[in-house]
Amino acid sequence: MKSDTPQAAPAVTAEGEAFDSAPKRLKYVTVPAPAPGSSVAIAPGVRWARIPLPMDLNHINVWLVETDGGCVIVDTGMAVQMGKDAWEAIERETFATQPVRAVFITHIHPDHSGLAAWLQERYRVPVLMSSRTYDMLRVMSTGEGRPPTGKIEEFFHSHGLSDVAQVQPMFKPERFGRMTSGLPQVERYTADGDAVRWGDSEWLALQTDGHAHGHLCLSNEAARVLISGDQVLPSISSNISYGFHIADANPLGSYLDSLQRLRKLSPETLVLPSHGIPFYGLQQRIDDLTSHHEEQLVKVTERCREPKTAAELLPSMFRRELKGMHLFLAFGEALAHLEYLVHAGRVQRQTANGIVRYAAQ
Ligand SMILES: [Zn+2]
Repeated sequence: MKSDTPQAAPAVTAEGEAFDSAPKRLKYVTVPAPAPGSSVAIAPGVRWARIPLPMDLNHINVWLVETDGGCVIVDTGMAVQMGKDAWEAIERETFATQPVRAVFITHIHPDHSGLAAWLQERYRVPVLMSSRTYDMLRVMSTGEGRPPTGKIEEFFHSHGLSDVAQVQPMFKPERFGRMTSGLPQVERYTADGDAVRWGDSEWLALQTDGHAHGHLCLSNEAARVLISGDQVLPSISSNISYGFHIADANPLGSYLDSLQRLRKLSPETLVLPSHGIPFYGLQQRIDDLTSHHEEQLVKVTERCREPKTAAELLPSMFRRELKGMHLFLAFGEALAHLEYLVHAGRVQRQTANGIVRYAAQ
């Protein structure tokens, strides 16, 4: 299904835009998704559990990876009661015999990192993540080094958003704090290329930027299993945002490069995504996501024959009314496409009277 067909009008979720591959491109596992609070074996030494989320995207998949004398939790859910309740049920079912030895975070987003500090406090275990994830988590949790609100408002205004109040709740400093349980202590960072040994299995950490700066996937090449975080999802095109923080000047470029890196993994790879159902068909999904972005890039370039602000491009990229978080994410996505085109020399950025417009070359 293409997002530009009139009947499609896919929802923008917290993680991106609904975008399915054509039927039969992907082969989903037949294991039923576990109910909140329980877990099911999904790959050698890996159990699949689901933590409910209080938003459009109603769950995150988390993984319990066997290690010596227990298990490692990969990703945590948000710091809300329903998430804690689910973990407490998993604790009764699984951790009594397989105690938690560590928590691994794929990336900064609160549905992934939100309960890291809570789990650390509860089980007294190390928390692992990339240094980029930790640095951003520190800025978001403490507010230190965060641009002042006025600067952020100016950023949206300069890109053509007349009513900045519509997105203001999204960048209020306290918003992140409400979804997370605080800043965990991280003693050792996991870097790109690190081999992480848990029990009998070895996982290669692959830095895959674009959706989130410092995002890590974990690849077990011997077992042909990829924990893909939000980098590759089966039915969502992950949100790629260029934002006021500008950690990455070309996030869409980083994302597409990261996809090509993952494309080299075995075609037999079982993909364990953070949202949706585990599947086979990594290469097919990567190709579909790549062409989806290329179609958007062509469309955006066409529209920029007459110079446009990011705000002016939104209706042609997202055929639905955008408000609040959806507007915030769609705005970031439009800018990520525009900045990609600037880097590729396909459009030019022009600033006049404090307003940025993009013009096709
Ligand atoms: Zn994410």
